[in-house]
Amino acid sequence: MRRRKTKIIATLGPASSDRETIAGLIEAGMDVARLNFSHGDHDTHRRTAQWVREAAAQSDRAIAILQDIQGPKIRVGTFAGGRVELVAGQTVRVLAGSDEADEGEIRIDHEHLLEDLEQGQEILLVDGLVRLRVEERQADALLARVLEGGVVGNHQGAAFPRATLRVPAVTDKDRRDLALGRELGVDYVAASFVRVASDIVEVQALTEADTPIIAKIELAAAYQNLSEILGAAHGAMVARGDLGVEMELERLPRVQSEILASTNRCGDVSITATEMLESMTHSRRPTRAEVTDVSSAVLAGTDAVMLSGETAVGDHPVRVVEMMDRICREVESGPHHQERPTIDFLHNEEPVPSATTRAAVEAARSLDLDTIIAFTESGSTARLLSKYRPQARIVAFTPRQRTYQRMALYWGVEPRTFERFDSTDDMLLMAERRLVEEGVCKRGQTVLMVAGIPPNQRSSTNFMKLHRI
Ligand code: PEP
Repeated sequence: MRRRKTKIIATLGPASSDRETIAGLIEAGMDVARLNFSHGDHDTHRRTAQWVREAAAQSDRAIAILQDIQGPKIRVGTFAGGRVELVAGQTVRVLAGSDEADEGEIRIDHEHLLEDLEQGQEILLVDGLVRLRVEERQADALLARVLEGGVVGNHQGAAFPRATLRVPAVTDKDRRDLALGRELGVDYVAASFVRVASDIVEVQALTEADTPIIAKIELAAAYQNLSEILGAAHGAMVARGDLGVEMELERLPRVQSEILASTNRCGDVSITATEMLESMTHSRRPTRAEVTDVSSAVLAGTDAVMLSGETAVGDHPVRVVEMMDRICREVESGPHHQERPTIDFLHNEEPVPSATTRAAVEAARSLDLDTIIAFTESGSTARLLSKYRPQARIVAFTPRQRTYQRMALYWGVEPRTFERFDSTDDMLLMAERRLVEEGVCKRGQTVLMVAGIPPNQRSSTNFMKLHRI
């Protein structure tokens, strides 16, 4: 069967955080398990992470754990009766705080609400369905008119698309969650509600030193500051749920393509998320539009596609991953996939590793080679090869368990571990023997080998060899 190149991230939740389902998700094609720290307690996440590691070892598959922290999400407070109905045309007083609101009031848990919002700016509630416009700033409240009404429940999210808010990059909860992430040795951290590059730096400082940070692009501000954010992060997620509240929905497809293209050009990992197979949360089949959406993301060059509620709280998580796997394989077999990348150098990478991996991918293409073998300490040789989208499979050997797990997210990369060797020749002999045993390569076949030499150091990629087995 054709190997899948696009990677699949599945969110684990009540519907999937048991040993059997985790094993089923891995079997079905999950490459990365996402632990969503907006939900669940530490004991549950700790247990789930352990089961992912055990199931990965049992199935002999590289599986990464992505810790998704909640970030500074702003929410409304509470209402008597748990909800309030807002009617278009009415005015409400909007106050800072999270206590129960009085009649005709809404509280929003942002300390600087009164200073940060200006007359004319909008407040969006209930996923953007309910819209208010600030009409007047008073001493202790904002007076806002309801433009579109609806029912608002306790603690629902609030968005402020055109306002510049003074919010901390990480909350106290994030600090506690990141401490657990360090204890669990998570492979990636996804940072929510980032606005500027320094937010990424703050999150990075609270993780283990080299943990890659994925910037969730879910605020209009993050989209505006994308290049500087990509300079600090190791990847970007098109977080279409919240981003679709921050901007008009019709802009999303174009913005998604732009974010994927910019992220790929930088050499970073790109992820497309949210509502990809949403109807499968309860239905056994996706809609035609969802299948087309997943295919479009793959064609637009995403490294990974992500499932959220579908696998976390859905009725048949394993079936959803199987479906995602089939859609990706199908689109990857078509003529428009893996078109030659036009860039010479990946923007945020050193020129020598970029040039070496690009040359390797070009050589594999022009010689019609099936396999590129990468030797890598940090995983960067494999990631750069992946970014030039070779037709050839990339089999990446690493002596580091952490790198092995991380490479699960790289498009087209098949991670392997190996014991260290002192010489590049010995490494190549080992790889040759293993790949022949596995049936990946045959004697007499020519493969491309790419590495950084001297070996066993974090030397940058600078070596390629055409090698006949
Ligand atoms: C999103 O908003 O699309 C997203 C991925 O974030 P979350 O699932 O944490 O809301």
